[in-house]
Amino acid sequence: MTDDETPQTADGGTGPGATPLTDGGVEETTIDPWGSSTVADYRKLFEEFGIEAFDEILDEVPGPHYLMRRGVIFGHREYSPVAEALANDDPAAVLSGFMPTGDPHIGHKLVFDEIIWHQQQGADAYGLIADLEAHSARGMSWDEIDEHAESYLLSLLALGFDPEEGTLYRQSQNRELQDLAFELGSNARFAEFGSIYGFDGETSVSHMQSVVTQMADMLYPQLVDEPKPTVIPVGPDQDPHVRLARDLAVRMRFFKVSEAYASFEADAAERELISRAYQTLSEDGADETVRCEDAAAWLETTEVDSELTAARASAVDKLSEAGMEPVRPRVRFFHRHGPDEAFEAMIEAIEGEKRVYEAHIDSFDLDIGEAEALAREVEVDNGGYGFIQPSSIYHRFMTGLTGGKMSSSIPASHISLLDDPEEGYDKVKSATTGGRETAELQRELGGEADDCPVYELYAYLLAQDDDEFAKKVYDECVGGERLCGDCKEQAAVLMKEFLADHQEKREEAKELLENCDIELESDRRGPGGSH
Ligand code: SF4
Repeated sequence: MTDDETPQTADGGTGPGATPLTDGGVEETTIDPWGSSTVADYRKLFEEFGIEAFDEILDEVPGPHYLMRRGVIFGHREYSPVAEALANDDPAAVLSGFMPTGDPHIGHKLVFDEIIWHQQQGADAYGLIADLEAHSARGMSWDEIDEHAESYLLSLLALGFDPEEGTLYRQSQNRELQDLAFELGSNARFAEFGSIYGFDGETSVSHMQSVVTQMADMLYPQLVDEPKPTVIPVGPDQDPHVRLARDLAVRMRFFKVSEAYASFEADAAERELISRAYQTLSEDGADETVRCEDAAAWLETTEVDSELTAARASAVDKLSEAGMEPVRPRVRFFHRHGPDEAFEAMIEAIEGEKRVYEAHIDSFDLDIGEAEALAREVEVDNGGYGFIQPSSIYHRFMTGLTGGKMSSSIPASHISLLDDPEEGYDKVKSATTGGRETAELQRELGGEADDCPVYELYAYLLAQDDDEFAKKVYDECVGGERLCGDCKEQAAVLMKEFLADHQEKREEAKELLENCDIELESDRRGPGGSH
């Protein structure tokens, strides 16, 4: 989940609002956390991988960051509980990691900003250095790792991370994290690493270990005080890690809580249909008890969407078999892991009407939200973690200044946060633009801000919180009032000022970093891995 930012051709700018979600220059959508990911069409991430559109929940976010407002943060997994916690001043956390393989650059700044914004909104904030991953997956030496780790931390502090309120750590120095990784590893299988990451017989054991360490990173904030909604801001290339961490969070739970309607088990689709039958029949029949066989008969003669026909057939079978048993909504607690004492404690803790079976309990007076909270509480009291699945937000990759990919290995394509300000100025002045061939054409047709790396610099960084300024640049560009020469000069000057200011703040941050509880020099040895 480290933001190793392997930026690539993005779909261009957005106007001050959202960008078009397509990219003309890239053909495929591949998601590889250690490779060079390409995202041809961000919409495919919604359809193929189940990432949800961020703009649909923007209204829920208190005082959203400009990266959210401008559509740079375009997707999420279950961010609503985090937004709700921030809005209500309830516990929440944010965590992201950085693989120290090079200098931090403006792509990483997006993630720094996302962490800091959440911290300012009241979340517990964590910035971690993924040094175990850098060593095992990238073969970085410990000396190189030390040097880059310090640089990432200085930029994070210089941009406003509050180390007194937040936590900085290195994977290699965090024993509690490594213990959690070990526990998570007990519930992760080599076969799934193969299918998720393409690991095979050549993959090093340490690389596999670094994966469970990353899973532990994402759950680590929940070890402190209590389980809490936690957001992981990353690029979409890190989504495989997020998905696995969310799965593992569930697998670690002692109890599975679900809604149920009768003594038999039903999956989510079957439950949905049985619920419909129950609602309809209980409304129609006033005080009469709804029996399973009545629900079966109703379902058999009711139209359902084609994707639910198989679920209807199996629900009808189950209901028919249950015959005269009443249909009654309830919540069910399955005991999946953990000691027998936890199950006993769960039975004790459920108030009101309940039925106890060999490995589950049905409660008739709790709603699903109350049941989940109770299950978590009992689990934590009995030696479990009670994890909440981590949430995530995804930001777009930045386009390289030379067009195409922004790559750490092509200096002209990106701006390092350590670049001399004059060099930053020169890089912007030499950047590719979305301008027309001649000034005359530009005045007539307007520029293509949506395909302009320079406009992206304004929207992602240089306009900062000033939406009006970003909009003005966009409108003037597409309206033909703004020509690229002047526009780049303005952006180059702003970039120079930003870099000078940032580097001054990095100097000031050195003292802050010295006072942080983090070892900057590792005494580890070993050549590292490469696969
Ligand atoms: Fe890009 Fe030129 Fe438009 Fe500026 S004027 S945003 S450089 S296309």
